[in-house]
Amino acid sequence: MRGVPDSRNRRAHIQYPDDVSSFALGKALTRMPELPEVEVTRLGLAARLTGEKVDQVTMRVPALRYPLPASLPDRVVRHALRQIRRRGKYLLFDFGAGHLLVHLGMSGSLRLVARNEPPRRHDHFDIGFGRQVLRMHDPRRFGAALWVEGDPEDHPLLARLGVEPLSRAFTSAALKSAVAGRRTAIKPAIMDAAIVVGVGNIYASESLFRAGIDPRRPAGTIADARLARLVVSIKEVLRAAIRAGGSSLRDYVGSDGACGDFQFRHRVYGRAGTPCLACGTAIKQLRQGNRATYYCPRCQR
Ligand code: ZN
Repeated sequence: MRGVPDSRNRRAHIQYPDDVSSFALGKALTRMPELPEVEVTRLGLAARLTGEKVDQVTMRVPALRYPLPASLPDRVVRHALRQIRRRGKYLLFDFGAGHLLVHLGMSGSLRLVARNEPPRRHDHFDIGFGRQVLRMHDPRRFGAALWVEGDPEDHPLLARLGVEPLSRAFTSAALKSAVAGRRTAIKPAIMDAAIVVGVGNIYASESLFRAGIDPRRPAGTIADARLARLVVSIKEVLRAAIRAGGSSLRDYVGSDGACGDFQFRHRVYGRAGTPCLACGTAIKQLRQGNRATYYCPRCQR
């Protein structure tokens, strides 16, 4: 398998399960886990599980999106978790001899629960670390857990992923070369995981608003300075969402999952017909591909 080019950032120091909301709240998912939720999950789990040894694995179903690795108990029991990294929306649990790759899919979440807490419906597998148990919950079963030996970034699911948006490799020059000559609209372009990973629908609308760019504008026609502003906006929006998730995270472990909301203040997303926070013009909504886009017709050109 081919490796990921060195120009792409291979580490990704932030991660949390895809769905902080379900992770944190223990409720049914209201939306798909995005990069900030995955990163917040990573941060929360890494703080509590790094260096801890696995003593038990329980699998309650044979498969999620893909078959669960039947050999997982043999691979990880008595091994310590060295670190948890993130690549895109994948969490990479490093056990030394290999990695457990976890993706939360459409509705997955990871929680730390007490050893004696009985599983709920849709709790598909547990990895026990002494008194704490890492538990995967996924009603729709589009999530994945795979055992990978060798460099996990060479795995087919990861090898073609674009640059990490929060890495130094995501620059205006990188974005410019990725969209050069493209007539596709800028919004679907920044949501294309082959260009940059983890910019979900909400974050794309919010980033374009902050950068003052019309979401319909052909990606290859945007001036350098405006692309540079967009890169900064994407980083800002994702960091703000991670901070918001982090603040809700403090309470989540050790409790029954009750905790604060994963709040991230939207400036345009979901606000069609309400006044733009910058100029007062009514926010508009349109569809691009199959996704709702929100924008200010005056602030975004
Ligand atoms: Zn406006």
